[in-house]
Amino acid sequence: MSNDMSPLDIIAPRDGEIRKLADDLFWFRFSLPFRLNHINLFALDTMDGWLLLDCGINTESSASQWSAILAQLEAKKSIAGIIVSHHHPDHVGYAGALAAITSTPIFMGAREYEETALLLRYSDKEAADIGNGAYVNFGLGDICVGHRRNRSNYFRTLVGDLPEVLIVEPGHVFTTTVGAWEVRFDAGHSPGQMSLMDHARQLYIGVDFLLPRISPNISVALRDPDHDVLANYFFYLEEMQKLDDDWLIIPGHEWPFYGGGARALQLIKHHENRLKKLLDAGSELTTGDAMAILFPFELNDHEIYFASCEARAHLNHLVTRNKMERLIKNGVVFFSKQ
Ligand SMILES: [Zn+2]
Repeated sequence: MSNDMSPLDIIAPRDGEIRKLADDLFWFRFSLPFRLNHINLFALDTMDGWLLLDCGINTESSASQWSAILAQLEAKKSIAGIIVSHHHPDHVGYAGALAAITSTPIFMGAREYEETALLLRYSDKEAADIGNGAYVNFGLGDICVGHRRNRSNYFRTLVGDLPEVLIVEPGHVFTTTVGAWEVRFDAGHSPGQMSLMDHARQLYIGVDFLLPRISPNISVALRDPDHDVLANYFFYLEEMQKLDDDWLIIPGHEWPFYGGGARALQLIKHHENRLKKLLDAGSELTTGDAMAILFPFELNDHEIYFASCEARAHLNHLVTRNKMERLIKNGVVFFSKQ
């Protein structure tokens, strides 16, 4: 592995365009109404038809973006199925609608399917109670807690209902016209993301776990704030560090690139640096304090959610490493150096 990353020499597809990345792999991009303003979606060419990979959020805009893409794909062959990599709304949101439009099955890993089903099941009150409880635990101020209390099940506003899905087992291989894509499941950015590797051609669709510029959000779930998800992500990055430079990394956002090993090392250093900042900051840190240290700028309601859950993931990992210990006072969790 060298220290270099380099983007694939290709222009990202514009609205409604489809770009060929390999003989069996086609790339298109949907716009998103978030700060991260796009998602990369893919179609794999199989003997049975197109296998789509990921779906966008459940909005009118996704519907019209899909109709432009489906028209082009279906002019060549029919749709055979829909693979959903993980439960985040930009990936799973439109899956149910897309399955209905194309009359095809959805393929998902068990862990991400369970997560999607669970988040869809919460009533507005349950979702608000879980968020509110977590924010008290995080030591975030009353204003913040008040905001959270007023919110509904936000996940449901972005994700449509899912039909029964076909569960993909570890080791499964999706066979295409010219390739064999083996699935892998990893935890960190989400609890069991499915990604696809074609070993013979050294192609890796890493989706959200290995992006060339952005550090994927590594966050605890609001209902499970003590879980050490950063340990899971370090485990993944250490494996990716072994990838040699000939592998083309094809991510769910941004652009395809070479140098996945170098990128994995950068991300390890990024998180180590954040852990050090928190350790240097001293004692009796709440999750809210840690958030202010790692994200020292004004955050809106939505950003507070990501930032606080990511700060907590780092605090939890310091506990795993025996560098910090947890102490609970009046429902607020404090972290102090060991
Ligand atoms: Zn994601």
